[in-house]
Amino acid sequence: SFQTEGMRALITGAASGIGAEMARVFAASGARVALNDLDHDACEALRLSLPDPDRHSTTVFNVADSAAVATGVVQASESIGGINAVVNCAGIWRPRDDGPIGRVSDDTWNLIIAVNLTGTFNVCREAVKLMDKKGGCSIVNLASVVAIAGWDKLSAYTASKGGVASFSRGLAVECAPRGIRVNCICPGVIETPMTAATLEYSKPQVLPIGRLGRPEDIARTALFLSSDWSSFTTGVVLAVDGGFSAA
Ligand code: NAD
Repeated sequence: SFQTEGMRALITGAASGIGAEMARVFAASGARVALNDLDHDACEALRLSLPDPDRHSTTVFNVADSAAVATGVVQASESIGGINAVVNCAGIWRPRDDGPIGRVSDDTWNLIIAVNLTGTFNVCREAVKLMDKKGGCSIVNLASVVAIAGWDKLSAYTASKGGVASFSRGLAVECAPRGIRVNCICPGVIETPMTAATLEYSKPQVLPIGRLGRPEDIARTALFLSSDWSSFTTGVVLAVDGGFSAA
């Protein structure tokens, strides 16, 4: 099995969907988990449902608020005895407002970039300060298959996720000598609360693999990328999409 002994992971966006499954999968593997979200009650309910909930913690902050992130990442880290893994799952999509391009408002553009791209940057910046030169540290950022394959009528979301993918590659090169690996997962359509409400906007009705993705498909990939089993893997932008982007 994976070597998760001593793994201490901050997971953003952990109250729902993929992030919540990350928390379950990481905790089940033996990692200590610091859950972050805007939604305190949902994080706490999830934490209390995990085996041995006292090993884990909840820290509420808005990833788009750089001052809140600076304090929040330190608090989260202290609450589980330091962090050596971060998974950035917090994100939003607003397909009804994000296209066609002529209808995308300044507010929609700015909000999606602020949460998905700036939010990922904010958390990475603070986490790298805490992880610097410790060795054996990992960051996993959630982009999307839209960062790899063209996807129409989704201006801000595609731009934000393309930014996350490029940012992750660059940060991987910067951080490799400091013992921090940085990888990026590009999920295809995964059945979560995010997509359930707007499944008509999720293009692939038929995927090569014949089903939609499940949160655990992404969580298990993230656990691998956070563990020593991927210790030679950094700067990878990895589609986990049932073959969508390959077809
Ligand atoms: P979700 O909506 O179920 O969960 C996202 C969580 O992020 C929510 O709990 C929400 O409260 C939290 N969040 C939102 N804004 C935040 C902020 N400013 N600060 C802190 N937390 C915040 O979504 P999901 O489907 O689990 O998606 C998780 C990640 O995976 C997102 O980054 C999403 O873009 C990406 N993704 C999802 C899919 C999919 O098909 N579901 C596909 C590709 C990429």
